[in-house]
Amino acid sequence: MLNRMLGTENPQYFTKIYCSCGRLADIDRMACKVKKSLHKDLECARCRNLRIAREIELLDESPDAESGEIYI
Ligand SMILES: [Zn+2]
Repeated sequence: MLNRMLGTENPQYFTKIYCSCGRLADIDRMACKVKKSLHKDLECARCRNLRIAREIELLDESPDAESGEIYI
């Protein structure tokens, strides 16, 4: 979505990856390179969204959330 807004939706900038959920996903070549260099798992947009949603949920459940100090 971000790439679309930036006008870089060009196939040559994307590469296909196999996500752990079994989906084939197009991801940004640069993002792929960065993730690999950081030894992070490559994931499809769906899994990324689910992971982010889970992380937000965990933040919401944190006892510190009410203090508002965890959003540094
Ligand atoms: Zn996936």
